[in-house]
Amino acid sequence: MSKDKLIIAIDGPAASGKSTTAKGVARKLGYLHIDTGAMYRAITLKILRSGLQEFYSKRITSIVDSTRIELVPANSSLKVILDGVDVTEEIRSPEVTAAVSSVSAIRDVRQAMVNEQRRMGREGGVVLEGRDIGTVVFPDADLKIYMIASIEARAQRRKHELDAKGLETDLNELQDEIRRRDEKDSSRDESPLRKADDAIELDTSDLTIEEQVEFIVSKAKTLSGAKGF
Ligand code: C5P
Repeated sequence: MSKDKLIIAIDGPAASGKSTTAKGVARKLGYLHIDTGAMYRAITLKILRSGLQEFYSKRITSIVDSTRIELVPANSSLKVILDGVDVTEEIRSPEVTAAVSSVSAIRDVRQAMVNEQRRMGREGGVVLEGRDIGTVVFPDADLKIYMIASIEARAQRRKHELDAKGLETDLNELQDEIRRRDEKDSSRDESPLRKADDAIELDTSDLTIEEQVEFIVSKAKTLSGAKGF
């Protein structure tokens, strides 16, 4: 692979601060931010809308094959476009959140998403965030970060986000939902959530977003310098 910009992989459990951090890092470095969780959410939305009760149906393969998901940078965020329609808001609904871990455990779904993520990232100049970026999607990524935070901090952050959207939430329920998702994502057969051996662990429980971004940006700059970019 010949490229003059880095591939940065940020993995970690639910609500560990990956998205906000990845967005900040991408902005500072002038890189593309690829939120792979948003891609799994988009395909989940499509499957839910198709009315399939059983996620492991054969029809999943044809749905996945005929789906187009685009991540379009817009102002300070990413727009998620599913088959030409903006679904940025819908993919964050409680229904999608409850189903996404089951859908993303399906092999055909993962294969399609991973192929697309590799296509988008192979030239470098990208910050990809998800669960399996450093282990499966880009095992040779230049910089791998594994973000963790206490369950209390993660639930509190999620509550802030949902409060800002005017959605009432219960802190204990949020903790349960995050735990359930982590458990499913870590115990599945296909590319389970785990820290790559060569990833740097970053505990964000007591860090500000700026500190998290700065930590990764400074590592990236040192690496770029060493590679002569
Ligand atoms: O990052 P976010 O919490 O939006 O991801 C939603 C879900 O998508 C995760 O709980 C996980 O089931 C799935 N996912 C995945 N692999 C990725 C990114 C997300 O399985 N690389």
